[in-house]
Amino acid sequence: MQILLVEDDQSLAAGISKALRNEGFVANHVSDGQSALHVVETEPPDIVVLDLGLPDMDGLDVLKRIRGHGSAIPVLILTARSSIDARVSGLDLGADDYLPKPFETPELIARLRVIERRLSTSQDSRISVGNISLDTLSLQVYRDDELVDLPRREYAVLKSLMENTGKVRTREQLETKLYAWGEEVSSNAIEVHVHHLRKKLGNDLIKTVRGVGYTIRKP
Ligand code: CA
Repeated sequence: MQILLVEDDQSLAAGISKALRNEGFVANHVSDGQSALHVVETEPPDIVVLDLGLPDMDGLDVLKRIRGHGSAIPVLILTARSSIDARVSGLDLGADDYLPKPFETPELIARLRVIERRLSTSQDSRISVGNISLDTLSLQVYRDDELVDLPRREYAVLKSLMENTGKVRTREQLETKLYAWGEEVSSNAIEVHVHHLRKKLGNDLIKTVRGVGYTIRKP
């Protein structure tokens, strides 16, 4: 799950990012509204955590522009403005949740988990290809109905490929699902994950598209 954190308080942002990463989220951070809009347009995250008091524009305007572009990305608002008015206008503009500052990080994580669950239940939570199935709700993978234990990043690679069955995922596309910006990624990281997945799930599932990336074909 990729989170874009929009927050101009650098120390708060660093603390939140670290906590999110510890929880297994891929967390990226920008400090102003324009950068947030650019990222949402070019590299849409799964959830946006949005501060309202930003240096270049009001967070509510950021939200308005995100929704104006037709994006349904879940947005959780963080703000020191805890008045009923601010709360109501945020929700009116299409925010999914609202957390007044100061807050405890576990509270933020809990609310993100709720949004995460809602995202996976809005689609069919089980994806199957051949004898492999993946449950996006329980985060479990089965081979011939037997549970296969996968570390978080292997799971994320498999999920991205299975959700895009029949399409090729480039190495870069897979990396953005797994690593935050600036995080040290070894050049063969994806290859190593795929190697492990093949050992656990059989060699035939994930095909290499030479020089491009990987794909799972429709059976
Ligand atoms: Ca602020």
